[in-house]
Amino acid sequence: MEGMKRALVTGASRGIGRAIALELAAQGYAVLIHYGRNRDLAEAVAAEARNRGAPGVALFGADLTDPDSAARLVEAAEAELGGLSVLVNNAGITRDNLLLRMKDEDWRAVLETDLTAVFRLTREAVRRMVRRRYGRIVNIASVSGILGTPGQANYAAAKAGLIGFTKSVAKEYAKRGITANAVAPGFIETDMTAALPEAVRKEYLAQIPAGRFGRPEEVAKLVAFLASPEAGYINGQTIGVDGGLTPC
Ligand code: NDP
Repeated sequence: MEGMKRALVTGASRGIGRAIALELAAQGYAVLIHYGRNRDLAEAVAAEARNRGAPGVALFGADLTDPDSAARLVEAAEAELGGLSVLVNNAGITRDNLLLRMKDEDWRAVLETDLTAVFRLTREAVRRMVRRRYGRIVNIASVSGILGTPGQANYAAAKAGLIGFTKSVAKEYAKRGITANAVAPGFIETDMTAALPEAVRKEYLAQIPAGRFGRPEEVAKLVAFLASPEAGYINGQTIGVDGGLTPC
């Protein structure tokens, strides 16, 4: 059991990734907290993770769009945690614009960060997990990848791609004790959604059956379950945490 509690969470300096890292810490996981630019915030998350009882906490900064970052991150997990049993691909960005105004660079940046970087890191992690015949991959997708959202053609394409990617990985490695699932949050209160104009927030709110936005901790609880040994027969699924917005 101890060997199964070593987790890498990408984009854990803020928002949903932060909540996931802290939830796993509270559940006794050693955690590798990955961040992009915000080392100070990541350090605060690491301190909080120690307070919550994580048996080991390490920090690693890397731009995930750098192709070398995948190998370096997985090596850091081996060195700092003694292995990797759980990979949570959480880091992501938006570059919203209507299709006719969307620049190639907006498309490229979102696809590179939200999809290609996940492919590279998952490939690297699964290489090690296969040898140990155990692993849990949890990919943070979005309702946008299921419903499509105006102004987010790049993001919806990346997240829909991530859902397809998750299903393929699930089928390839199911016999090796590895599962891959996607979590599709709806509108969750983080920096990402704080950046949206008030009118857009109101429009989203009107569509949510629960009548409220979600909290990062509500996503983290599901991720922690999917990361656990008990979730071994759940594979290739996409599960919404969205207040009833997209019942499957
Ligand atoms: P935030 O914008 O609050 O945080 C994003 C995180 O990703 C940060 O930790 C950031 O690191 C990291 N990151 C972004 N780009 C890179 C990069 N190139 N290299 C390394 N790290 C990077 O996002 P949220 O918490 O809101 O979202 C987390 C995930 O959940 C994303 O995948 C998002 O698409 C998804 N999601 C969010 C929803 C929401 O309503 N908030 C809804 C549906 C899905 P740093 O700060 O250190 O630079």
